[in-house]
Amino acid sequence: MGDHVQPRLVLLGKQGAGKGTQATRLADHFGVPHVSTGDMFRALAAQGVEAGLEAKRYMDEGDLVPDDLVIAVVEGCLEPGGPLDDGFILDGFPRTLPQAVELDRVLDGRPLDLVIELDVPRAVVLERIAGRRVCEQCQRVYHVDMPPQLDWVCDSCGGKVRQRDDDTEAAIDRRLDHYERRTVPIIDHYRTQSRLAVVDGIGDGDDVFERMVKIVTERIRD
Ligand code: ADP
Ligand code: ZN
Repeated sequence: MGDHVQPRLVLLGKQGAGKGTQATRLADHFGVPHVSTGDMFRALAAQGVEAGLEAKRYMDEGDLVPDDLVIAVVEGCLEPGGPLDDGFILDGFPRTLPQAVELDRVLDGRPLDLVIELDVPRAVVLERIAGRRVCEQCQRVYHVDMPPQLDWVCDSCGGKVRQRDDDTEAAIDRRLDHYERRTVPIIDHYRTQSRLAVVDGIGDGDDVFERMVKIVTERIRD
């Protein structure tokens, strides 16, 4: 084992690739915090915090939240001595090249261990997102084909399970276009840094999880 077994990871993938679910599982497995910028914005908006309300206006349209706003919200956690000092799974950040450059800067001297791209074709994610339902409280993800046991009440926390405001077909299309244009360039950025691993995101969730754990474990052992 190397110095740390608590990895610093970024998860990339199209909307609906299963990023959120896998990020939660990886965070449990490795005992590090799971940081989802989407969840952070939704929580801030629910609390009526101005930054969150502003972010929500972009999110509901299927647009990316502007870089300065994203960076202002996330950066505090990433600074040395902050809550993410001992490893993390970043889910949804960075999403643009300027955000990736900013992340490199703020991590100064404590680089990422690995960036995992969860690879799923567009047609598959479209089908998945259209049926996606999410718990309002704990953000647990369900699907119309795999609902909670009781009438759209969350199995984990009793919260209300519903379709997200930005999971409409038009918004999904826009988000996938943004992914191609804005997020794919950061894949090259990390490939150049030799930090990229591509994991096949098709198939059983448990299998995908095992693939990811294996690749992370190999990486942090080196
Ligand atoms: P999904 O992966 O399905 O898009 P998320 O919860 O990760 O779900 O993000 C929801 C929305 O939040 C995005 O469509 C975008 O508007 C906004 N968002 C989240 N993270 C970022 C980011 N790093 N940069 C810009 N916008 C972001
Ligand atoms: Zn819940």
